[in-house]
Amino acid sequence: MFSTEMMYHEMGISREVYEYCEKIWTSLKERWEEIDRLSEYNQIKVIGAMQKNKVSEACLYGTTGYGYNDLGRETLEKVYADIFHTEDALVRPQITCGTHALALALFSNLRPGDELLSPVGKPYDTLEEVIGIRPSKGSLKEYGISYQQVDLLPDGGFDYENIRKAINTKTRLVTIQRSKGYQTRPTLSVNRIKELIAFIKGIKPDVICMVDNCYGEFTERQEPSDVGADLVAGSLIKNPGGGLAPIGGYLAGKKECIENAAFRLTSPGLGKEVGATLHALGAFYQGLFLAPSVTANALKSAIFAANLYESLGFAVVPDGRESRHDIIQAVTFGNPKGVIAFCEGIQQAAPVDGYVTPEPWDMPGYDAPVIMAAGAFVSGSSIELSADGPIKPPYAVYFQGGLTWQHGKLGIMKTLQKLVEKEIIMRDFDKRNL
Ligand SMILES: *Cc1c(COP(=O)(O)O)cnc(C)c1O
Repeated sequence: MFSTEMMYHEMGISREVYEYCEKIWTSLKERWEEIDRLSEYNQIKVIGAMQKNKVSEACLYGTTGYGYNDLGRETLEKVYADIFHTEDALVRPQITCGTHALALALFSNLRPGDELLSPVGKPYDTLEEVIGIRPSKGSLKEYGISYQQVDLLPDGGFDYENIRKAINTKTRLVTIQRSKGYQTRPTLSVNRIKELIAFIKGIKPDVICMVDNCYGEFTERQEPSDVGADLVAGSLIKNPGGGLAPIGGYLAGKKECIENAAFRLTSPGLGKEVGATLHALGAFYQGLFLAPSVTANALKSAIFAANLYESLGFAVVPDGRESRHDIIQAVTFGNPKGVIAFCEGIQQAAPVDGYVTPEPWDMPGYDAPVIMAAGAFVSGSSIELSADGPIKPPYAVYFQGGLTWQHGKLGIMKTLQKLVEKEIIMRDFDKRNL
């Protein structure tokens, strides 16, 4: 009666899968405690910033038209600045996504003749067109802004010697991507970012150090802006939107960097003064309030998946015990069937579109078919439980999110169930392992 196992059974989870997953989960109690402590710290940080800036009911209602004197918008930007410990912030529904936030930061703080440097290897796919690594209309390259890149060393370390050589009189901005994104390099901890920024500022103190903070917010107690970053940027349909923000992006940083960005986002002369918030503010505030706990749920889901698939003999990045600096989990299956079964399992756990079957397709901009699983309340939101994988070697799936840990757990259990049903994992897996 009213047993949890019965509920799982009704969702198509077999006893073997249920019991195996319970064993994995109960072995993770210490990690859970550590993550609960992290979200507790960040929850207080967020509430403290809201109280300090006197967030009131009036802040939750937006403006229309030009959006002059939008109290909620101005207060929210102060709240973000306090959370990130920066002089100022720009948090807007007019910033359409993470790529837009990053492009805005770059275009507004670089001028023709300047050079951009990435000392951590190739940036996120979509930035290749922003920078002009892949030719594109309106790229930084078209505006006469050059680019240099220094790859990480084979062991994941910074190539200090070549970074030193790459910094020159033209170098104006250094972009550092915190999360591995969909690569196999390790994600950078805030402490490693601190070391890198200190090194760069030691060579050229006036260079702007920007951090692509996507997927990293609230995964640690400090943010890159606590350790010397002049500017951080990210998406509100990832961690800081807490699953509720329906759109948006943010920048937080030095007053001058934010001012440049505001004049670019709206218009020279107008800057931060305009930009109606319509009906977005309630969700921005409430999502930010939930973000530390939602991010913690996503971390728990990722750690559970890592430990589960590691125990079954699959390669996982990060591994089951590593400390976490973003919410992305990679699992390598080594064959297309595994990637497809995993995505089907995630989809079948979704509250929205749970009845559809994802299939690989030739997505524009990718060189292999890609399969994506997402059943989200906010379209494309990757703080919600989602998975995707290119159908090409090494046949890895990237998985992230889970607004609640319970949903994350169900999703991962469904993936294992699918893999067993399709006999990609042996039916007696529970006897071979643990
Ligand atoms: C998601 C992401 C982006 C781009 O954000 P979009 O909202 O998808 O445009 C950039 N960098 C990293 C590291 C990301 O994870």
